[in-house]
Amino acid sequence: ELSLSNRVNEVAPSVTLAVDAKAKAMKAAGIDVIRYGAGEPDFPTPGPIVEAAIAAAKDSRNHRYTPTVGLPEFREGIARKTLRDSGYEIQPDQVLVTNGGKQAVYESFQAVLNPGDEAIIPTPYWVTYPEAVKLAGGTPVFVTAGADQDFVPTIEQIEAARTDRTKVIIINSPNNPTGSLWPAETLKAIGEWAIEHGIWVISDEIYEHVVYDGATTAHIGAVVSELRPQLIVLNGLAKTYAMTGWRVGWMIAEPRVIKAVSKLQGHMTGNVDDVAQRAGIAAVNGPLDAVAKMREAFDRRRHAIVDALNSIPGVHCIMPKGAFYAFADVHELLGRPVGPQGTVSATSVELAAALLDEAKVAAVPGEGFGMLGYMRFSYALSDDDLAEGMRRFKAWVEA
Ligand code: PLP
Repeated sequence: ELSLSNRVNEVAPSVTLAVDAKAKAMKAAGIDVIRYGAGEPDFPTPGPIVEAAIAAAKDSRNHRYTPTVGLPEFREGIARKTLRDSGYEIQPDQVLVTNGGKQAVYESFQAVLNPGDEAIIPTPYWVTYPEAVKLAGGTPVFVTAGADQDFVPTIEQIEAARTDRTKVIIINSPNNPTGSLWPAETLKAIGEWAIEHGIWVISDEIYEHVVYDGATTAHIGAVVSELRPQLIVLNGLAKTYAMTGWRVGWMIAEPRVIKAVSKLQGHMTGNVDDVAQRAGIAAVNGPLDAVAKMREAFDRRRHAIVDALNSIPGVHCIMPKGAFYAFADVHELLGRPVGPQGTVSATSVELAAALLDEAKVAAVPGEGFGMLGYMRFSYALSDDDLAEGMRRFKAWVEA
């Protein structure tokens, strides 16, 4: 067999996609699995957005390449949306339309890292960050903030991780996997620290509209305006408009960054699907009523799942303030017999596997997010499935 590159061999597979793939395969085989794995809203994409896509697809002018950076009307719409939602002005030439937020994550690290540079990743983190750093030749440096501090790192913890090789920090609030919402003071401290030490900040704001109890997402570019020349903001349609499958995201940065990254994207994927971009124009120019509705449902499920998790002996979960994930501490279920078969799991990976095999409940083990002894439950599933899965989890633990 011919060898593959070290680069592809060293990429860790996405745990979230792996769990979801296994759960989907079980479901296809006729096994009734409750899936808390995937981070996707269970709602359909709002009608007017779908209608805009249908109309766009029927118009043959939209069947060609667009500029790599994205359609001008979409970049203008994203600029207006940024002023509306983040509270500061940007120009359309500061926007690059990407194939999902995921491509924007990958390209951001490609844009700023040289081999040997360090990237600070607050932990728990979204699965893709460390792999994207490594694919850019960088070294991930993890700063862990536990449940005792609401999973929000302090500036002292971040500063302790800084070296003269630190080139960038990535932040994500509202957070996947913890649902934490970082206070404006934390963002202010991080922004000022980054300016003082000449460090890029990548801010992943994809869950900005998924917040509860009347809270609002603080945007670091608004909190620390002087940071903007060294700030790269990532966002997308997936979570706000229930459009995970449409693959539309974007990056906001200085024009010189956008120009540099568009060279890369020009060779990788070229532009994002024209029809999907036209759906995006309808989305960002339209109202936020669909996400308000989803938020209501998510909020109900958030309470239901956190209450249910905390009623299971040995499971502890703090109330998340944003996104649609509950990140539960399952340490007490490790190293001892659990379930009717008395399965002993040494790690949360093993526990998640046992829970899936024996109770037909799919959740993602904390290892995928750099946090052992935890499990992430996405509550973007129906109320009935949510309740049924929690009933199964509890019965399994209490058996
Ligand atoms: N960033 C975070 C924190 C996410 O959770 C996700 C999706 O799960 C993304 C970015 C990327 O989303 P997409 O590529 O679907 O736009």
